[in-house]
Amino acid sequence: MPIAHNLGFPPLGPNRELKRATEAYWSGKIPRADLLRTGATLRAAHWRLQRDAGLDLIPSNDFSYYDRVLDTCAMAGAVPARYGLSGGPVDLDTYFAMARGVQAGGRDVTAMEMTKWFDTNYHYIVPEFDRGQTFRLASSKPVDEFQEAKALGFHTKPVLIGPVTFLLLGKTRAAAFDRLELLDALLPVYGEVLARLAAAGATWVQLDEPSLALDRTPQELAAYGRAYRFLAERAPQLKLLVATYFAGLDDSLPTARELPVAGLHVDLVRAPRQLDPLLKTWPKGRVLSLGVIDGRNVWRADLAAALALLERGRERIGADELWVAPSCSLLHVPVDLDLERRLDPDLKGWLAFAKQKLAEVVTLTRAVRDGREAVAGELEANARAIASRRSSRRIHDPAVKQRAGAVGDRDLRRASPHATRRKQQLRLPLFPTTTIGSFPQTAEVRAARKQLHDGKLTPQEYDAFIAEQIARTLKLQEDLGLDVLVHGEFERNDMVEYFGEQLQGFAFTEHGWVQSYGTRYVKPPLIYGDVSRPKPMTVRWSTYAQSRTAKPVKGMLTGPVTILQWSFVRDDQPRAETAKQLALAIRDEVKDLEAAGIRVIQIDEPALREGLPLKRAEWPAYLDWAVNAFRLATSSVSDATQIHTHMCYSEFNDVIRVIEKMDADVISIESARSGSELLDGFREYKYPNEIGPGVYDIHSPRVPSAAEIVAALQRMQAVLHDRQIWVNPDCGLKTRGWDETLAALRNMVQAARQLRPVPAPASAPAGG
Ligand code: ZN
Repeated sequence: MPIAHNLGFPPLGPNRELKRATEAYWSGKIPRADLLRTGATLRAAHWRLQRDAGLDLIPSNDFSYYDRVLDTCAMAGAVPARYGLSGGPVDLDTYFAMARGVQAGGRDVTAMEMTKWFDTNYHYIVPEFDRGQTFRLASSKPVDEFQEAKALGFHTKPVLIGPVTFLLLGKTRAAAFDRLELLDALLPVYGEVLARLAAAGATWVQLDEPSLALDRTPQELAAYGRAYRFLAERAPQLKLLVATYFAGLDDSLPTARELPVAGLHVDLVRAPRQLDPLLKTWPKGRVLSLGVIDGRNVWRADLAAALALLERGRERIGADELWVAPSCSLLHVPVDLDLERRLDPDLKGWLAFAKQKLAEVVTLTRAVRDGREAVAGELEANARAIASRRSSRRIHDPAVKQRAGAVGDRDLRRASPHATRRKQQLRLPLFPTTTIGSFPQTAEVRAARKQLHDGKLTPQEYDAFIAEQIARTLKLQEDLGLDVLVHGEFERNDMVEYFGEQLQGFAFTEHGWVQSYGTRYVKPPLIYGDVSRPKPMTVRWSTYAQSRTAKPVKGMLTGPVTILQWSFVRDDQPRAETAKQLALAIRDEVKDLEAAGIRVIQIDEPALREGLPLKRAEWPAYLDWAVNAFRLATSSVSDATQIHTHMCYSEFNDVIRVIEKMDADVISIESARSGSELLDGFREYKYPNEIGPGVYDIHSPRVPSAAEIVAALQRMQAVLHDRQIWVNPDCGLKTRGWDETLAALRNMVQAARQLRPVPAPASAPAGG
């Protein structure tokens, strides 16, 4: 019989219960027992919900108080020495200290690093490894949660992050070494966990090994074989399901097939083409779990299409070994569409969140098991919804499609090369100073926005408040002596939402929260239709700002790739196409800003790097359309208008050559934390345009001295021409306080001035 199962359920709760309880615990408002009780209540509710949805196999240990990779660190006793744990289990406070650092009671311990989980916007805690380090079982969470479920009548499938992926996700401290050297030391801990799970009565255990589906060396592939031979031997009574997702197995397929495990899960939403090669050689009697429901996006599935894949699977390997699942854990989608009261009913009919996706899995499983007739009603309703979306006028705007279709090479090029443009652009001193856009979003600013939202401020009162913030910030920047000013972005809640709210083709949910990291959740906008810009979005505040000062004020926009990357996007057209539509909307805004007299326009693309596909082979195609989207957005302006862009991330060198193709006049980038590496990149590669590698780290409240900034600038002078160098912080200032911001900027301006050539003393004109 085919089985309906799930890889993981979002832990946060329909009303963000986990966030509230965790933050209350952190601030000392509730005791530990209350937090643990909230956790248990949520787990029970989620198990019940999944059983009621009709799933045959429900996950456990997918719940986490912060992050599952951190849970795995705790499980394996991979606790860095600075947390002072001298043995025994990892307690809750040590666990949170690893996630957040501690600054209390005379202790000052930094948190572990955090980074993006593959190509999602979820961040995991990066394990820290030392050469020759040991591991020990230091958390019984997987077993405890299995037993907790069992006591409630749920026979669950515990989920662990697999040992090879766990090691590959970590970083090596001090001396670099091959993390897989640690595998032999780590495996016995996994062996012990599996043995305990078996003793507790578990049948199936899921081991997440998404890393197996990425580009892998032969040595790495060999490590998978070694790991699973060891585990299969340690826990012969258990059935292991190795779960891959986010990419196709491709070159790893032979390795995956040879693993001595009872089952394999593959992501057919991301990589449907892996099905045929898999089916061709899949051994009899082994489970193949097909992920056919998109765990990364919010659309209702096309059940007929998914069913076609499943039926091919059934034909080849039989119904008994076929499992049906979402493509990956449902962690990346909101919990329940039923909570949405304000979404347009058409649009709502096209969506599915975690709970609705489980119903889809169950419908498909029944169709495979009992035939299509058994679920004829569901299939028909689904086909109707799919057809209505396909043809809806709310989605398809012929004018937008026509305009996008007519984009040609000439729309992607500025009139002249940078060297020519530069001569017509603003006259600025050497080492011009500027900031990245936002100034502190104080409690006062957030309160005003909330009051507007709650109707306690009229739009007029709110606008007056924003105008006053802008005027005040401009004055401060003039007093500091900055060269290119910004308005401060006080009117923006979020750099994507602000634009999404003003564009056609976007919708917003009330409760569509997904975890970004820890207790930080985000509510990504939903791009459901063709995108266009009904009217100017930023011209009003930019021109107001420019009217208040004689210095140039930068117009501030978010770029097409970043808007795409931080939203739930359409799955009915390629991302490249949506990016193009977004680019055209931004292009309109750029033109309007220019027409309104704004001479410097910055289009932020902080997410360009993170949009890189997981496999190298797909990079060139992505970079091609991403760069073209930026160029389409920015190339309509005259030579005299200076285009800036901003990016922030540390692995900049991956895309260093791409920024030249973007052809912005000026790019500012984060570099304060990855400075030397970045400069090495510029040593080998001569960037032609202007660039502002951030001179200090805005993620910390620390105020850099002028001397430090001078030193940073001097390092840049070694690899860049003076006339190329801009002086700016490494990102926006919205998370900082005013005092530290002003102090840091004062030092920054002073540093730039120190580097400028001293003007020659005025002398009497030479006589004849
Ligand atoms: Zn940034």
